[in-house]
Amino acid sequence: MTTTTSQLPTIYTHNCPNCHAYAVINYQDNTITVPCSGCAQDRGWEWNGHTCYGVTGLSAQYKRGATLEETVLAVFLIIRPRFIEDSSVLDGVTVDQHILNTMIPDEGKELYNKYVTQDLEGIPQAVYDDEGWIAGYI
Ligand SMILES: [Zn+2]
Repeated sequence: MTTTTSQLPTIYTHNCPNCHAYAVINYQDNTITVPCSGCAQDRGWEWNGHTCYGVTGLSAQYKRGATLEETVLAVFLIIRPRFIEDSSVLDGVTVDQHILNTMIPDEGKELYNKYVTQDLEGIPQAVYDDEGWIAGYI
C-alpha cells in the first residue's frame, strides 16, 4: 500500500498518545512525518510509501524514526522486561515467541534471537575504558 503525503494523518486527527508524544511532525501542514513504532507496525512497517519502524524509545531523543536495529533493541530492552514481569497476557506462548509473533518485523527476527541468546557475533560491542566510559566498539 502506498500512501501519498496528502493522505498522511494530521497530528490533530490522529488519535494515538504515543504519536502525540513522540512522532516527528511536519509543522507546515501538521502531518505526521514519522509515527510512533506502534502505528508504523499497524501499517505493516510502512509509512508514506517507505519502510518505517517509527519512533521508538531509543530514537525519540533524536527526533527521527528508528533503524531496524534500534527497533529490535528497544523491544528487547524496554518491552521484553515488562512481559517477563507480567506474562499473564501471553496465552500459552513464551515471552519471546509472543514478541516475535507480534512486535518484530520479519527482517528483525534473527537479530532479536541474537539478543535473546546473547549470540552477539556481528553486533558492535562497546569497549569501556578504566573509568567506565565507552572507548570504542569492536
Ligand atoms: Zn502512534
